[in-house]
Amino acid sequence: MRPVLLALLLAAAGSASPAGSIPAAHAQAATQALFPASVSQGALVLGKVAPGSQVRYAGRTLRVTAYGTVVFGVGRNQTGPLQVQVTAPGATMQTVSIAVAPRDWPTERVNGVPPASVNPPPQLAARIAREQAQVSAARDRDDDRTDFAAPFLWPVQGRISGRFGNARVYNGQPSPAGHSGMDIAAPTGTPVKAPAAGIVTFAAPDLYLTGGTVLLDHGHGLSSNFLHLSRIGVKVGERIAQGQVIGAVGATGRASGPHLHWGMSWFDTRIDPLLVLDRAR
Ligand SMILES: [Zn+2]
Repeated sequence: MRPVLLALLLAAAGSASPAGSIPAAHAQAATQALFPASVSQGALVLGKVAPGSQVRYAGRTLRVTAYGTVVFGVGRNQTGPLQVQVTAPGATMQTVSIAVAPRDWPTERVNGVPPASVNPPPQLAARIAREQAQVSAARDRDDDRTDFAAPFLWPVQGRISGRFGNARVYNGQPSPAGHSGMDIAAPTGTPVKAPAAGIVTFAAPDLYLTGGTVLLDHGHGLSSNFLHLSRIGVKVGERIAQGQVIGAVGATGRASGPHLHWGMSWFDTRIDPLLVLDRAR
């Protein structure tokens, strides 16, 4: 990815220049915004701006770290160019434009899932809606922790049995939305490790569609979710270190066999964990 350099030269207004130092006309502070020129659908985007900048994207004001790092996610169906508005301290607003590379979403056929999880009985609609609202509320968190900044680890080792974004057909019935995460096949009971540090924002043993469910918040709106767990070993509010065991692989909820579904979100925008892992390479 070719970086776009947006150099904003700010005159060092009013700076006194002691004898023998660089003339004031050359003593300019350069503030730069650095973003990839092009990103993929489902990507996690890291950018760099002058510390203290105000950064707006997709209707949100992004948190900016003390080092000027910002982060946001690109949805599966997002088209470009993305527009990021950056206002460095003392400067006028600049718009950074980022192209979005479209991806193919092949169809995955998943057979053998419990029929009642593909077509839930109407009397369960309220329960499912309530559970989804609880998970959405947990995703709304915007902490200043930067747990997302370290390279991510695989939460379990195994074959990728389902990819982010792919169209899904459950028991022969198409599902309108793409697959929301990445499935890794592993035996029931395999320990699931935190791919990055975070705080547990949700933990429940038996959601109707997702079974044993844990959400881990990595800061700045970025979170992981771990679904279909057979066991949960953490509580809401608990601080988790990278690599710490948070539960065990299972087949609870809408699953045809034991696997870990690992999803990632930037607030309510789902992103591809595989792209986040690739960032570390
Ligand atoms: Zn899945």
